Amino acid sequence: MPNTPSRRYKTVLLFGAPGAGKGTQGKILGKVPGFYHLACGDVFRSLDMGSELGSKFMEYSSRGELVPDALTIEMWRQNMHAQTVLSIYKPNVDLLVLDGIPRNVNQAKHLEKYLEVLTVLHLVCPDIEAMVTRMRRRALKENRVDDADEKVIRKRFDVYANETKPVLDFYPKEIVQEVNAMGSPAEVLQHVLEVVVRIQNEHFRNPLA
Ligand code: ADP
Repeated sequence: MPNTPSRRYKTVLLFGAPGAGKGTQGKILGKVPGFYHLACGDVFRSLDMGSELGSKFMEYSSRGELVPDALTIEMWRQNMHAQTVLSIYKPNVDLLVLDGIPRNVNQAKHLEKYLEVLTVLHLVCPDIEAMVTRMRRRALKENRVDDADEKVIRKRFDVYANETKPVLDFYPKEIVQEVNAMGSPAEVLQHVLEVVVRIQNEHFRNPLA
């Protein structure tokens, strides 16, 4: 793991309320050479649900709550280590696009020693009902228990407002970039690309150019 400032992972954080489209945009970016996308929720969902960590994830996520920080950070750290060892993620070449982590200020503090956060890309969607609709659609498509129940969805919005939103104030204002998340996926992608391509050009030499 990198721990000196210069070896920290160069990172863009995808930030936004549940259903704002972080996963959709992150997955697209992850397909582009030079970007590596990791969604914390996807790592949790890929666990063996019979394992201790898997059952902890089920316990908390089915209530719409956050998994405890120590477990989350350790799982994330191990996953990043594995991706790096296997050269699936190449820190010198790829801009890391993180989605779903950090989800509270304590996690943000713990990640400081691993991440050089270049931009916090805040997907702004003021229309909660539009996000709830997206999540209901996702529940059907992806078979997600935490998206199926209205009460759990509302709880996740509360957790976002109380625990996750304050993360925005943890980072310097200059690196927080707001992007309107209300358009179609392609429209939102256009705005996202404007931000991340600039960051990539500033921080990486392009071996493909
Ligand atoms: P969404 O994109 O709708 O916010 P995610 O897939 O990111 O959903 O997360 C689903 C659930 O996984 C969360 O509600 C939470 O229980 C758990 N989870 C994901 N990331 C974290 C994290 N960084 N810390 C704690 N719990 C997390």
